[in-house]
Amino acid sequence: MSNSATQLIHHPYRPPAEFEAVQPGVFKGSTVFFPNMAAVRERQWLDKSGYTYGLHGTPTSYTLEERLATLEGGLQCVLAPSGLAALALVPLALLKAGDEMLLPANSYEPNRTFAADGLAQFGVAHQCYEAMDVADLAARITPRMRLVWLEAPGSVTMEFPDVLAMVRLCRERGVVCALDTTWSAGQAFAPFNLDGQGLGVDIAAPALTKYQSGGGDVLMGALITRDEALHRRLKLAHMRLGLGVGMNDVEAVLRALPTLPLRYRAQGESGLALARWCAQQPPFVQVLHPALPGAPGHVHWQQLCGGTAAGLFSVIIDARYSSAQVDAFCEALQFFRLGYSWGGPVSLVMPYEARALRGENWPPHLQRGHVVRFAVGLEDAADLQADLQQAMARTLL
Ligand SMILES: *Cc1c(COP(=O)(O)O)cnc(C)c1O
Repeated sequence: MSNSATQLIHHPYRPPAEFEAVQPGVFKGSTVFFPNMAAVRERQWLDKSGYTYGLHGTPTSYTLEERLATLEGGLQCVLAPSGLAALALVPLALLKAGDEMLLPANSYEPNRTFAADGLAQFGVAHQCYEAMDVADLAARITPRMRLVWLEAPGSVTMEFPDVLAMVRLCRERGVVCALDTTWSAGQAFAPFNLDGQGLGVDIAAPALTKYQSGGGDVLMGALITRDEALHRRLKLAHMRLGLGVGMNDVEAVLRALPTLPLRYRAQGESGLALARWCAQQPPFVQVLHPALPGAPGHVHWQQLCGGTAAGLFSVIIDARYSSAQVDAFCEALQFFRLGYSWGGPVSLVMPYEARALRGENWPPHLQRGHVVRFAVGLEDAADLQADLQQAMARTLL
């Protein structure tokens, strides 16, 4: 071979195969080579017995899928390029025109937006049920209702629903039940064995962007199941939509997973300590953290999670303060940075408009006022408390 590019591209060297280290190797590729035509014809990606094309998986993504399935107590897993992409994939895979979907009123807002602006175009309608009212959910499960979303706790307002009763109801009515497990991250409860007797949801949907990645620098989501036929429907829709994930991102999540239990516990403990402290501060008329006695759904949290919680809570600031004062409070914080998402090392704060969260239907279990959410990072809790104190003293007079 006289052409050096050819020589480099088709170089004969093969390193010895027996390399084992702490982290699994990172295998990247759009093209995957086949040794012969028999392999082209026979290889299967759907059951993970082989490799055919980068979009269908590499050893790296297969490894993360298996670890995530184990983490949530499931058997199969599909990766998606964001948490939201994973949520959107579920109705796209399972519903058709004329079917309906149910979401909790306190659900992750982009999931509701996708239902209203995306699914509606395809003739799939949705309704929202009051997350704390099992009877309301029951009344809305009509024969057209094919998919029920649960979130425990709800986004921002943090109510913890009666998950056991809701999952039993979905089982009785034969409707597919999907649970957004971003908050629990495989730590607070077992979505496929909620009662210790094997009662479980059909699909667990964690946004890996949060605790699983843990760095605030990766977007990824997953759908975990225990039913082979259901997994196959999700996997085929995933293939048709071309929802690939980057293997460097997969590597980042694989690298972060071993410290997930430690990080979750540390952030959970700091979060609860700060929530308790906030409950003593007069400007905060309500603190929304499921571990606080009196918080909406506290008993359901206790039943399902024992003492475990993520490092996430919201406060309702007295309505007598202006929105400008609430903005000033958030801006006066030094360690809590203004930003979305959570689960990374840096603590975050974000105010939310009550109207944007619930429209005109502010539920009676929530006080009126300004909602501010805190996501607790890995800083020292004492420093975070001092930060809240100084910002409060300067802005919430
Ligand atoms: C962040 C989040 C998602 C979406 O995750 P992205 O990766 O940001 O798309 C879904 N559900 C909940 C509850 C979340 O907090």
